[in-house]
Amino acid sequence: MNAATHTALHDFMQKIEKRNPNEPEFQQAVAEVATSVLPYIQDKPLYREARILERMTEPDRVIMFRVVWEDDDGNVQINRGYRVQNNNAIGPYKGGLRFHPSVNLSVLKFLAFEQTFKNSLTGLPMGGGKGGADFNPKGRSNNEVMRFCQAYMTELERHIGEGTDVPAGDIGVGAREIGYLFGQHKRLSNQFTGVLTGKGLEYGGSLVRTEATGYGAVYFLEDMLKHRGKDIEGCVATISGSGNVALYAAEKVAQLGGKAVTLSDSSGFIHDPEGIAGDKLAWVKALKEQRRGRISEYAEEFGVEFFPGERPWKIPCDVALPCATQNELSGSDAQTLVDNGCMAVSEGANMPTDQEGLDIFVSNHIMFAPSKAANAGGVAVSGLEMSQNSVGISWEEDELDRRLRTIMRGIHEQCVEYGSGDNGYVNYLKGANIAGFNKVANAMLAYGVM
Ligand code: NDP
Repeated sequence: MNAATHTALHDFMQKIEKRNPNEPEFQQAVAEVATSVLPYIQDKPLYREARILERMTEPDRVIMFRVVWEDDDGNVQINRGYRVQNNNAIGPYKGGLRFHPSVNLSVLKFLAFEQTFKNSLTGLPMGGGKGGADFNPKGRSNNEVMRFCQAYMTELERHIGEGTDVPAGDIGVGAREIGYLFGQHKRLSNQFTGVLTGKGLEYGGSLVRTEATGYGAVYFLEDMLKHRGKDIEGCVATISGSGNVALYAAEKVAQLGGKAVTLSDSSGFIHDPEGIAGDKLAWVKALKEQRRGRISEYAEEFGVEFFPGERPWKIPCDVALPCATQNELSGSDAQTLVDNGCMAVSEGANMPTDQEGLDIFVSNHIMFAPSKAANAGGVAVSGLEMSQNSVGISWEEDELDRRLRTIMRGIHEQCVEYGSGDNGYVNYLKGANIAGFNKVANAMLAYGVM
């Protein structure tokens, strides 16, 4: 980066920090993108004069609302609901809903911003959005979750629609919550439309959507390894999380001949040197999806070690897949992975690696797939769910998996195109940021000043 670009980046980030105080996650996500995009647009006056990047950092709209519901004891509970509609230059807003106590405006603005680039990379006509609430479904009864979802959708309903904004699941919002949310939307609007994705197969859902994010992150990993003449077969993989993304990442690693040896949740991680696959993986799916239990139970069931309060990055591995949450992989974790010989990292979660970690991976020439590229498989199949809904058809599993594979390959190719350096190292973060930016920026230019 030359001195002029360095100054431009510094000035740009100062303005972002001033306009968005107390929003560290949002500032972090913008800095990650600006570091790649500002040098790229230095000699492109069209983008600079139209202030496209600045416009992209200002959401089209932020909706914040009160969600009031009654718990099982008849107490009135109050939560805060959100929907950040970041950018609809290339299609209706699209992005998940997160129900977690850590949800706040900074987290959702970062996620909606990232989503805009990710959706662009898929090649499908989807803008970027994200929403949710500071509601904690953990420990709540089914009826409480249902009442909360109904109260949340009662306000959200007026802001979303098939051609406007199409939410999906994320942390804390799985098949059960999507069912309650879709049901309430249908009741209020008196319309059966594809206004949410991740729906059950009985009411407009798509095959492969459940698996898509985890599978996609491993497909991307496979493409990175192939690009360097390597293969997943025989690789030891450390995975964090034990939710939707982590479990299907573990499944795909096993299908491709690798061995996933860790899973985690917010209480710690388990290490199974024999590998988590087949019956063991089916057991974890039942634990998490049906019994809503803790990952420590795996250690008791299969006699392996549980590390309370820790993350799995100290376990030696060939490849790592952080699939839990943001900033779960620090600079020192990244250094440990590098020291232990890890050659590739594919981010299943959104922004799981912090800035220091990114710098360590890139400076050590680790193959590093940033979330906006690696975990785009989920929203890609959501896009395919929207297509199926709009024409009233259902594709077969093979067809959807083939399309998912093709989309992930296309994203990899775009990253290589824009991220390859003279030394042969592919900076996938740079590649994803620039490729994602281009399409949205060109659409925004076409619309004029708005
Ligand atoms: P789930 O709710 O299914 O699972 C989340 C997992 O991460 C759980 O194991 C959870 O543990 C763990 N976790 C959550 N918060 C923390 C925390 N603060 N510290 C440690 N562990 C934590 O969510 P998903 O699998 O759907 O999402 C995981 C990540 O992937 C998120 O970053 C999400 O934004 C991203 N993503 C998801 C997509 C999808 O299709 N679902 C699409 C693209 C990205 P516990 O149960 O103890 O909280």
